[in-house]
Amino acid sequence: MTSGSALPESAPALVVTTHGGGDVLEVRDQPLPELGSEQVLVRVAAAGVNFIDTYQREGVYPIPTPFVGGNEGAGEIVRVGEDVSCFVVGDRVAWGQGLGSAQTYAAVDTKNLVHVPPGVDLETAAAAMLQGLTAHYLSTSTYGVQQGCVALVHAAAGGVGQLLTQMIKKRGGRVIATAGSTEKLETARARGADELINYAEVDDLAAAVRELTDGQGVDVVYDGVGKDTFEASLASLRPRGLMVLYGAASGQVPPLDLQRLNKLGSLFVTRPSLGAYISTPDELRARATELFEWISSGEVQVSIGGRYPLSDAPTAYADLEGRRTQGKLILIP
Ligand code: NDP
Repeated sequence: MTSGSALPESAPALVVTTHGGGDVLEVRDQPLPELGSEQVLVRVAAAGVNFIDTYQREGVYPIPTPFVGGNEGAGEIVRVGEDVSCFVVGDRVAWGQGLGSAQTYAAVDTKNLVHVPPGVDLETAAAAMLQGLTAHYLSTSTYGVQQGCVALVHAAAGGVGQLLTQMIKKRGGRVIATAGSTEKLETARARGADELINYAEVDDLAAAVRELTDGQGVDVVYDGVGKDTFEASLASLRPRGLMVLYGAASGQVPPLDLQRLNKLGSLFVTRPSLGAYISTPDELRARATELFEWISSGEVQVSIGGRYPLSDAPTAYADLEGRRTQGKLILIP
């Protein structure tokens, strides 16, 4: 094991004490994580706040409690495991998949790590990894957006939503954006959205989408809201359109009768996850390299909507789940 300067024995961490709501979160001192042979220990500069953390906290993705929460972060390597070859102490790194990221020193598998290029600061890197890689695979691989393609993007002022809107526009697509307030719609417009719908105010969301598409419907729907929007999303698609259900901010979608896809015009439905689209270190690094290039060149802007000290992590999650946020939230240990 190679180590830099002397480290403390324990440091503050966000602990999920048992499965449940926000009240099960506790910020307390924890021993520094044990380091596996193919892991590095990172002094975390910023950790990302994501919905997957809330699904894990609630037990939707079951993880035995207590555990340290958070899955995303960026920082500087302070120690490396004995079998680590491509990373050294002092490297600036980021990751979007690493349970236990919301703490001062996190142990991260090297297969999940990327180097942060010099033009990108660590807070931006932490903010970009999970949502940025998600927007990348959604717009390039789940549905390869092309010139003239029409996409419906729900919650377009959110973390994924803002990045996805920019990436669809970059590829020549047209974005119909939804959000729950006028202020959020203005944010979506600033990110390039062509048309805006306040879905908190329209009675028939699919009819509003059809009105904007000469009755045709859209080529693809990107839906991370889930339960509250799923039916309207299906009804907004053109025949043979693709429904991309990538999240469940409003709750899980109930089981779907496949025969309905037939009746609605031979629709396609997919429920993708980031892990399947960065399934090898090569795929992760190819996507991250492109993402960081777009960020460095200013083609894609990462909007940090809130910075919270780690001690305030429960407030950050309450704000995210309470729909009070735009862009990305990060925790600063
Ligand atoms: P956001 O910043 O988009 O926040 C969620 C937004 O969803 C809210 O701000 C709100 O926007 C909207 N929303 C609508 N109804 C609700 C509700 N009942 N409760 C809470 N929010 C609601 O979050 P993220 O960008 O972090 O994530 C968006 C989605 O993407 C999540 O479902 C997440 O799980 C998913 N995701 C999926 C990944 C994958 O690979 N499959 C990877 C990363 C994220 P408004 O007020 O405008 O309605």
